[in-house]
Amino acid sequence: MGEQRFGLGFDSHSRDETRPCRIGGVEFEGEAGLAGHSDADVLCHAVADAMLGAAGLGDLGRHFPDTDPRYEGMRGLELLRRTAGLVRERGLKPTSCDATVIAERPAISTRSDEIRANLARALGLGEARVSVKATRPEGVGLSGDGAACIALAVLSET
Ligand SMILES: [Zn+2]
Repeated sequence: MGEQRFGLGFDSHSRDETRPCRIGGVEFEGEAGLAGHSDADVLCHAVADAMLGAAGLGDLGRHFPDTDPRYEGMRGLELLRRTAGLVRERGLKPTSCDATVIAERPAISTRSDEIRANLARALGLGEARVSVKATRPEGVGLSGDGAACIALAVLSET
């Protein structure tokens, strides 16, 4: 294995009651969604941002600008797949990632196995190399009005 690169990612979206709630490519029925130009999948966005960081490719807005109609409603998993492609073009490949979703709702832990499987597939990784955790903001910051996610991605040279 070649040199390893580490990248940090962050994303947040405010609540939008009119949209479906999709996190890590999993739809949480009956939960209020998140506002955004794309599908606002905060987890996929944070992991994609972390991969771009590790590859020195700038941020998500540079590659998928929210002013571009091509990315309207784009699925988070598709964005993740494309980001993994950008990284591979640079001679790098994802080797692991860890992410923590910060939100009062939905309860991520009930679906975390599905989410890990989705992420692993999008990144071309084994599930054991993908970690998804969740924490509640306990009244600080984003409490109840949105969701945030922080992620670490590790890439290695191919
Ligand atoms: Zn986002």
